[in-house]
Amino acid sequence: MSSSPLHLNTPLLRTATDYSANGKPLWLKLDALQPSGSFKMRGVSRLCQHEVENGAKEIFCASGGNAGIAAAFAGRALGVPVTIVVPETTSAEVRQSIEATGASVLVHGSVFDEANAYAIKLSEARQAAYVHPFDHPLLWEGHGTLIDEVVASGTRFDCVIVSVGGGGLLAGVVAGLKRNGLSHVPVIAVETEGAASFHESLKAGERITLPGITSIANSLGARQVAQHVFDLPKHHPIESVTVSDAEAVAACLKFADAHRILVEPACGAALAVADVHPGLLSRFENPLVEVCGGIGVSLDKLKVWKERFL
Ligand SMILES: *Cc1c(COP(=O)(O)O)cnc(C)c1O
Repeated sequence: MSSSPLHLNTPLLRTATDYSANGKPLWLKLDALQPSGSFKMRGVSRLCQHEVENGAKEIFCASGGNAGIAAAFAGRALGVPVTIVVPETTSAEVRQSIEATGASVLVHGSVFDEANAYAIKLSEARQAAYVHPFDHPLLWEGHGTLIDEVVASGTRFDCVIVSVGGGGLLAGVVAGLKRNGLSHVPVIAVETEGAASFHESLKAGERITLPGITSIANSLGARQVAQHVFDLPKHHPIESVTVSDAEAVAACLKFADAHRILVEPACGAALAVADVHPGLLSRFENPLVEVCGGIGVSLDKLKVWKERFL
């Protein structure tokens, strides 16, 4: 079996100098262009590949959407059946997109934790591989390829801006920086208000569980980050910031107009930082934004969010 990666080496764009309020161009790593529509393809496919190479005949994954569709793409490429368990909050459109890849979709529970527990139970009953959406070292290793690619391109950057849900992307970026000798490069970790499980945990000095998620950025809606992620600031310079849903939506619209690509508010959150926190970026010359993407977006959804927030 071939173990060549299933993700794409995505384009890296430079914005115009006046794109952001901080007045400096941004490097944009366009992971919205991964075949599954988000960076999740990197780590999820890495983990699925590992499991199949080690004999798994079937894959189960719990997901609000983007990890699920990444697992579905990976399973199809690897020739194994995939079942994605989604909570009731996952939209019909997202379920249909996952099913269109040939994967089965089961709806279970009202929140991710319930869907996840069910996926684990099913995978154990069938001796299948279980793929967590954000908490596994191979996922982080896979997500880190986005940093490998930027480094290999010769691009110089002095901070990385990433969205945080459960923190798999953040852990992957930190792992990627480390293996490229860039452990001094700070990471700015962005969440929306109402989904800020990382920010609230750092403030509290312990890993807290949010009572609920009140942000529209569903892909950031992990009520608790992974323990490894909570511990990362002890080993790597990380600054945690939040933006509002309105600011995330405004950033999605601005990005769509400028670059003609749709991304979820979860991704808009990272794009918003240069406008919402220009002071925070003032000490950096070449910020790199991970444009993490997401399939939970459409022209109609953007229109509804625009009317609601702006
Ligand atoms: C999963 C996801 C995130 C958050 O990633 P974590 O690894 O859970 O922190 C952000 N944006 C998009 C589009 C996602 O799919």
